[in-house]
Amino acid sequence: MSAAMNAPWIARQTSDLLAQRGHAWLLQGPSGLGQYELALALASAWLCEKPTVQGACGDCPSCHAIAVRTHADLAVLMPETVMIDLGWPLSEKAQDDIDKKTRKPSKEIRVDAMRDAVEFSQRTDARGRGKAVLVFPAERMNTITANALLKTLEEPPGDVRFVLATEASHTLLPTIRSRCLAHTMKWPEADEALAWLTEQGLQGPEASALLRSAGGRPTDVLRQTEAGLSPAWWAALPKAMRQGDARHLADLSPAQAIDALQKLCHDLLLRQLGAAPRFFEGAQLPDSKASTAVLTDWFKRLMQSARTAEHPFNAGLMLEALTSDAQQTLLSKG
Ligand SMILES: [Zn+2]
Repeated sequence: MSAAMNAPWIARQTSDLLAQRGHAWLLQGPSGLGQYELALALASAWLCEKPTVQGACGDCPSCHAIAVRTHADLAVLMPETVMIDLGWPLSEKAQDDIDKKTRKPSKEIRVDAMRDAVEFSQRTDARGRGKAVLVFPAERMNTITANALLKTLEEPPGDVRFVLATEASHTLLPTIRSRCLAHTMKWPEADEALAWLTEQGLQGPEASALLRSAGGRPTDVLRQTEAGLSPAWWAALPKAMRQGDARHLADLSPAQAIDALQKLCHDLLLRQLGAAPRFFEGAQLPDSKASTAVLTDWFKRLMQSARTAEHPFNAGLMLEALTSDAQQTLLSKG
């Protein structure tokens, strides 16, 4: 079971939502607050054999089946890249295609997967507790998959419940939004996120530096530490970019590098406006005369790169190009 499912702010939201008995939930709000974990906590509670008002017991055969990612009554609809990251098994056919390099793991929720889920919701449940469909991130559905889901949401066949999680609910079909009860993710209390990160094995000062670099989003911090981003690494990033040192990004995926550079750009823009930086300490930011217009253009280029970053043609080349672009921006005189 994911550690964040038991985090206090997730636990509070789990029991709040369970008390409301919706059959389809849409969890929305910024990423990194535990959307996926809350979605999984809800689905686990629905399927649990001994649920309490707090949620799933964590100990029954159903909870165990979810912990090992093989529950016959839970369908998980995610892009294959996300399933791989979160440890969910792909369908046999999909795994076979990817092993044989017929195609790359999909970044969208595939039509095949949606067809399987529609079929799943029409079957009788295996364990007598109904069924659950979890969709994450829901904005990765294309029009075809979204319409297939909509049909199932409109005429739920029997005892099936849905939980969708998204950081971009405005991009979903309005008809999907209107079929779901919406819940906006709550931020943890100030000390709560730090205390929880310390429980996950981070040292106090380290946890607080990382929480800052993640913009206060605790589940993003865990992802960062898993990726090997230490506070010292983070503190040295701006100056390394000013020096054009691409080795500083070497352990990152292009997507992670772009995320880090966007945060740097964001803080430089704040400094231009005379505001306090959000992700870095002021002293960590490099000297730079880059104007607001130059920084804004850089941000746009980073957003563009983000679209191709998940599986770039050549990750090493991409990191070098990102570094060189960052350096040129920082050294810009106007
Ligand atoms: Zn249970």
